[in-house]
Amino acid sequence: MKRQTVRTDVAIVGAGFTGLSAAHELSKAGINLALLEARGRVGGRVESQWNGLGERIDSGGQFLCEDMPELMALVRARGKTLVETYAKGEFVAQPLTGAKQVERIYHASMSIRDRMNAIAPGDPAIAGLTVAAWLDRQNDPGEAKAAFRSMIQGLWCQALEKLPLWHLIDNDRRITNEVSELQYFVLETMQSLADDLAGDLGDRLRLNTPVRTIERRPGGVRLASTTGSITARIALIAMPPMMASKLDFAPPLPAALQRALGVWQSGAVIKVQMRYATAFWRARGLSGMVMWRDPPALFACDASKDDGHPALVVFVGGPLALRWRELGDAALRTEVMARLRQALGTDADDFIDFSCRDWTDDRWSGGGYADLIIDTSATEAEKTILAGAPPVYFASSELSPSFPGYVEGAIVAGRIAAQKILREFNPQ
Ligand SMILES: Cc1cc2nc3c(=O)[nH]c(=O)nc-3n(C[C@H](O)[C@H](O)[C@H](O)COP(=O)(O)OP(=O)(O)OC[C@H]3O[C@@H](n4cnc5c(N)ncnc54)[C@H](O)[C@@H]3O)c2cc1C
Repeated sequence: MKRQTVRTDVAIVGAGFTGLSAAHELSKAGINLALLEARGRVGGRVESQWNGLGERIDSGGQFLCEDMPELMALVRARGKTLVETYAKGEFVAQPLTGAKQVERIYHASMSIRDRMNAIAPGDPAIAGLTVAAWLDRQNDPGEAKAAFRSMIQGLWCQALEKLPLWHLIDNDRRITNEVSELQYFVLETMQSLADDLAGDLGDRLRLNTPVRTIERRPGGVRLASTTGSITARIALIAMPPMMASKLDFAPPLPAALQRALGVWQSGAVIKVQMRYATAFWRARGLSGMVMWRDPPALFACDASKDDGHPALVVFVGGPLALRWRELGDAALRTEVMARLRQALGTDADDFIDFSCRDWTDDRWSGGGYADLIIDTSATEAEKTILAGAPPVYFASSELSPSFPGYVEGAIVAGRIAAQKILREFNPQ
């Protein structure tokens, strides 16, 4: 096949929600662009798969809530149907404890989180501290600390021993939802939203185009992929920082920027979904939500659609995901099912479909839900990446001022990057 060289104004690398959102914003302003995506589909960490029952299910990002304005607006504008996540009835805590004790442990773990978030990220007293080291110094009961560890490792899919305290506080403060982040999901799948955005772009979107090198040259950039090259005035790298750090830049990026990209590590998550003939947990007055303190970062909830089979989704996060992925598919399933049986009873075994998506070390996103900084001294990393090396800029959900690590954050990050680029085309 003949390799082509295409010319455009802006080349965007990565068609996750960040890249799609930037492309949408730039197209609206009449800018010529090319959106280059390594995979044969758009969506990145939002992905859907067909399960064994012929149902299309979200195997990546799925849930959203009323407090995520950009994503909610998009869902509504594209005429999607919101499914309210079933949350009636009791949730189960594991190891099993009495209802009163569960409530006490939960409130105690939330008060650790509030205490943490009351610390200013820049407070010199926490410089160099990881979340684990800080937690060690707290005088809370062991069970409250275990619940806090499980909650944070579950939400961020990263070991507390690696996570700088200032970074977690800085991120956690940007997650501002008051209603549950699991409030809704999209009947047609979150992935269908990405497909709709891609549909607007026509042939400006190029799938199966992994960008390998980015040359900065006078007047612009040249991006080379396995299928050809593109020259542009500006490049926007819409990928998580850890993946961006693996691109080959010529000349090399300024040392501070290369370092700033290199201090991130992808979280580890495995998403498991089971379909059942009946929602047996509901019949027993349970919501289907299970929160494990041990093992930490294991969480389940109901994800049933009215028109499909009742469903449970289980998230395995952080160090637990890294451990369990080594077991292989069959043993991983055994582990998950053993925990679920303990929590919800033997009916849990009667699933009619079992789907598992291992995102650890994902080839094109690195992992999930998001990258986090793992160097306690890298307080300037985000600022350095956002400044970029003009005409090369960077954006991703991780770098969003609101909801970093979420689809909402990706949409916001893409829009902000597009506005920055537009200012270069139309200087005031
Ligand atoms: C299992 C899982 C569950 C999640 N659940 C939720 C949820 O319920 N709600 C929520 O809001 N968020 C959730 N998230 C997080 C959410 O999906 C992400 O924050 C968001 O989708 C990130 O978007 P992005 O565009 O910044 O990055 P990505 O989606 O990672 O997009 C980056 C894109 O760049 C492409 N790419 C990489 N390298 C190259 C290259 N060299 N050349 C060309 N293209 C390249 C990738 O293929 C990818 O498409 C979940 C994530 C996972 C993994």
